[in-house]
Amino acid sequence: MNPSTARPHVVIVGGGIAGLAAAFFLRDEKARVTVLEGSPQLGGKLSVSEVAGVAVDEGAEALLVTRPEGIGLIDQVGLAGDRVEPGTTSSAIWTLGALRPLPRRQFMGVPSDLAELARSGVVSAEGAARASQDLELPPSARDGDVPVADYVGARFGVEVVDRLVDPLLGGVYAGRSGDLSFDATMPALAAAARRYRSLAEAAGSLLPPPVPVTGQDQAPAGTRSGGSVFTTLTGGLGLLPSFLAKTSGAEVRTASMTRGLSPAPAAPGAEPGWRLTVGSAAAELIDADAVILAVPARPAARLLAEVPGASAAVTALGEIGYASMAIVTLAYPRSAFPGAHPGGGLAALGWSGYLVPAVDRRAVKAVTFSTVKWPHLADPTAPGAEPLEIVRCSIGRMGEEALLQRPDEDLAVLAAAELAAATGVRGVPVAHRISRWGGALPQYTVGHLDRVARIRAAIAAQPGLAVCGAAYDGVGIPACIATARAAAVQVTEYLRHSREWSHG
Ligand SMILES: Cc1cc2nc3c(=O)[nH]c(=O)nc-3n(C[C@H](O)[C@H](O)[C@H](O)COP(=O)(O)OP(=O)(O)OC[C@H]3O[C@@H](n4cnc5c(N)ncnc54)[C@H](O)[C@@H]3O)c2cc1C
Repeated sequence: MNPSTARPHVVIVGGGIAGLAAAFFLRDEKARVTVLEGSPQLGGKLSVSEVAGVAVDEGAEALLVTRPEGIGLIDQVGLAGDRVEPGTTSSAIWTLGALRPLPRRQFMGVPSDLAELARSGVVSAEGAARASQDLELPPSARDGDVPVADYVGARFGVEVVDRLVDPLLGGVYAGRSGDLSFDATMPALAAAARRYRSLAEAAGSLLPPPVPVTGQDQAPAGTRSGGSVFTTLTGGLGLLPSFLAKTSGAEVRTASMTRGLSPAPAAPGAEPGWRLTVGSAAAELIDADAVILAVPARPAARLLAEVPGASAAVTALGEIGYASMAIVTLAYPRSAFPGAHPGGGLAALGWSGYLVPAVDRRAVKAVTFSTVKWPHLADPTAPGAEPLEIVRCSIGRMGEEALLQRPDEDLAVLAAAELAAATGVRGVPVAHRISRWGGALPQYTVGHLDRVARIRAAIAAQPGLAVCGAAYDGVGIPACIATARAAAVQVTEYLRHSREWSHG
């Protein structure tokens, strides 16, 4: 392996946000860094392309600003000036035959204001009455991890689970509340629930105090004092990967699928290292002093399969399932939407989009009114041209793979028909785009935290090896970036301790 005087070589497998962020965090270290991305394109679930001449994200489109990691990275790569806030974050639930306001005082769908829940019409009168029993019921026992639906259902009844919590979890994880872990998907609420008898009170303890604002009872969901909790980039979040690649100083290779990982044969007196097999036809061997696996659970498990002592990680990674999705992006002339006033368009509805409960048996699970949520997308591109409305329809909950096997044109027609039923939009879209995401989102099912602990323990025993990405501590971009930073620190410390290597 590399003699102690040479710059150590760190190889990062996976060029999604986690892998590229890890490369960025290593930029000031005295190491040679190579990123190996298997597909022809960098960015993983961050990707942007044009629909009807407008750059619209194909995957992730909004970044949480209440955590520092995402906006911090955007600022560090020089994109601070491109950040924009949403025009509105008020959302709706399409259920019981109408678009109804998503209650503002809720935490991942768990209501804290039961009067507001009843007024929203999202649940029936009986459902609202059942939900209010939460305030009277004795504490719900919870021994170890449980499915979200079990705990929340015991407090509020099945309607709150089906029409609020399940659609919100579906929006983030594409998963189902009957399978997802309360501890892993709502850690703050799971902790607060141990301090309060009522789950509504526990949810309320995590929300900012209600602040009356002019003309409304309080600020809409998705806002905080001082602005929205979300941001994006004017050119799309999909721009971030290429900026990270450029500023990281790493050698970034696409179309470089890593097929094998094994301990490298160590030269006498040298530190152990790793050997990666890259590509298929003429496989290339790359030696590294440290390796960061920034790939989803399944490819990580495949790569670790040949590593002695990693079987516990392979088993636990194999237990993490993935939901697949498709995003159908549709563009309409503004006049196709029946507004409250001429030219009112989608904005007249007053929402940034809506969620659809699985119990309502629609194909589309979530819709974003992109030109309302991100007004910069609605700028007319040609003088005198009618502005477009752009809508992103998300299809594919966990277990709905058969739906996703339908051809692109079918999915576009289905999405447009359901949008017409919900919003009254007339005519056919002037443009559409289908973005398919196989293995899109890891499922944090019951036992996830224990699984991740087993993976981390097994990886920690491997010299110079680290993992990061959406499979572990959160699927949102800031959480992925946090795992990338931890992985970068882990390999940096390993290299410092294992050879005469100083920060440079
Ligand atoms: C449709 C969609 C919308 C989303 N919306 C949001 C949102 O608005 N906000 C938000 O915060 N999060 C959102 N998410 C979640 C978030 O985008 C992802 O969790 C995150 O981008 C995952 O990043 P990652 O680097 O861990 O993995 P990935 O993006 O999956 O990157 C992993 C990379 O590894 C590569 N790879 C795999 N195997 C190999 C191999 N053997 N060799 C080399 N390369 C390999 C893959 O090609 C891929 O590029 C969304 C996700 C999806 C699918």
